[in-house]
Amino acid sequence: MSKLLEVENLRVSYHSYAGEVQAVRGVSFTADEGGTLAVVGESGCGKSVTARSIMGLIQTPPGEIKADSHIWYKGKDILDYTEKEWRAYRGAECSIIFQDALAALNPTMKIGRQIAENVLLHGSADRKQAWTEAENMLGMVGIPEPGKRMHQYPHEFSGGMRQRVMIAAALVCGPKIVIADEPTTALDVTIQADIIQLLKKLQSERNTTVLLITHDLGIVADMADKIIVMYAGEVVEEGTASDIFYHPGHPYTKALLKAVPRLDMGEQELTPVEGAPPDSIHPPEGCPFYERCESAMCLCGHRNPPAYTLGRGHRASCWLYHPMAQSRRE
Ligand code: SF4
Repeated sequence: MSKLLEVENLRVSYHSYAGEVQAVRGVSFTADEGGTLAVVGESGCGKSVTARSIMGLIQTPPGEIKADSHIWYKGKDILDYTEKEWRAYRGAECSIIFQDALAALNPTMKIGRQIAENVLLHGSADRKQAWTEAENMLGMVGIPEPGKRMHQYPHEFSGGMRQRVMIAAALVCGPKIVIADEPTTALDVTIQADIIQLLKKLQSERNTTVLLITHDLGIVADMADKIIVMYAGEVVEEGTASDIFYHPGHPYTKALLKAVPRLDMGEQELTPVEGAPPDSIHPPEGCPFYERCESAMCLCGHRNPPAYTLGRGHRASCWLYHPMAQSRRE
């Protein structure tokens, strides 16, 4: 698969009265064309801020994207886009499915018009064609009687159906990248599975690149090709789904896995990740996971580890993989 999007050393802060909140601290990764990259981590780890940066939705001020950050798309750094270029990119090249469909949809506007507006904004279609395209898209995401439902308002849809409408609105212009930001958090487990299956189906039909942002490792297992695990604004581990689920390297990833039920592990006791992430206004000099890590060593409290290669495309930022620590363990 070829590389479609490259995030390089992304650093995003928010300026508050209490100080500079360092939400994203030097994040780098690539997303392949037609693939699914899952970005996993607990609330506040910087995954949604990363997603919003890719969509150009960081409000400045109070937000600030540091000058040495880059997001490469089609050979250009999108952080240098003009407002006109952002408008052409959002929706047509990259779109986002938000977690709270009720808040994201306009309650006073009919569903059909909300989807058709996207087509009008980015295509050369007239109103009638845009309406037809919106109706077709509504049918594709599994809404029964789409012609009738086009005339209804968001409150007339169930939670799962509203999320399908969000997917229709995100995909109607045929974007190359879709960011799904916690797309199933507000839904019950059976609807969650339906929405993930729908995303997978539409992705394979359209060769769309999906960035799946979630705190739940459980939902990425059968969808993601690659997974990056974020903690305290940094990427602490990246690898294929098989690397992360069967050969996790970073103690945080291992702790996350112990907190989710797995069908392939038989009976298991679930263990929550104890403690809390560090203060993002005064992040620690050493490893950000130090205070919560069962394997912490003295060095970890003083110096943040670099990323060590554990296998092809599999890296973890942890001093346990320093050659000296490795030779001591052998
Ligand atoms: Fe734990 Fe040290 Fe590795 Fe950080 S660097 S995850 S504290 S062992």
